[in-house]
Amino acid sequence: MEKIFDWNRIMFNDLPAAFLLEVVLRSVVMFMVILMTLRASGKRGIRQLSIFELVLIIGLGSAAGDPMFYEDVGILPALTVFLVIILLYMGITRLTDRFRWFERVMEGEPVYVVQSGKIRLEELKRTGLSREELFSELRLQNVEHLGQVRTVLIETTGEVSVLFFPDEEVKPGLPIFPGQQKKVLPTDQNRCCAECGEPYTNAASNGCCTCCGCDEWVGSMTTKRIA
Ligand SMILES: [Zn+2]
Repeated sequence: MEKIFDWNRIMFNDLPAAFLLEVVLRSVVMFMVILMTLRASGKRGIRQLSIFELVLIIGLGSAAGDPMFYEDVGILPALTVFLVIILLYMGITRLTDRFRWFERVMEGEPVYVVQSGKIRLEELKRTGLSREELFSELRLQNVEHLGQVRTVLIETTGEVSVLFFPDEEVKPGLPIFPGQQKKVLPTDQNRCCAECGEPYTNAASNGCCTCCGCDEWVGSMTTKRIA
């Protein structure tokens, strides 16, 4: 067994210190390769990656890093990996441009998760986003309760697009800030389904939500959106 805490091995992997010069050369080469490959892929700057693009980046990343400093990993095999990945990327991009169904398979589809202040629970489940994550995204867009929101669309990149009701059309809605969801209500207060956010007048809510069957209620909010 190798000696543990062998500083020569820990620091230099038992290689001569001059190997660091080779690491410099390898890193420069691989850096240029990554740069040229990403330029060739036609991608512009990146804000959010789709799953497909993430796969591309992970593939390139693992192939790029190793030959920079593993003395037994050559640069040519890594270049081959790059070539294959970029050809796959270009081929798949061409197919997604051409066939709608193929694009759906590769990138997924945008999903409407809120419509007219009501959460579409089944659709939300499809996105893998929890209610709390959705609320957090909405809070970041200055939403105080769901009655302010006409439509929420989860893009294929995971970004959240929101359309708002104009002030005069804001409806009673489910509060989404922590601590605002009051569950003990005066009998005359209008309320929302705690699960899907469907608004009810007090009289209509003696039982379960007709939309999702939930029997928990939260007092509605009616504040306008001041952004
Ligand atoms: Zn409901």
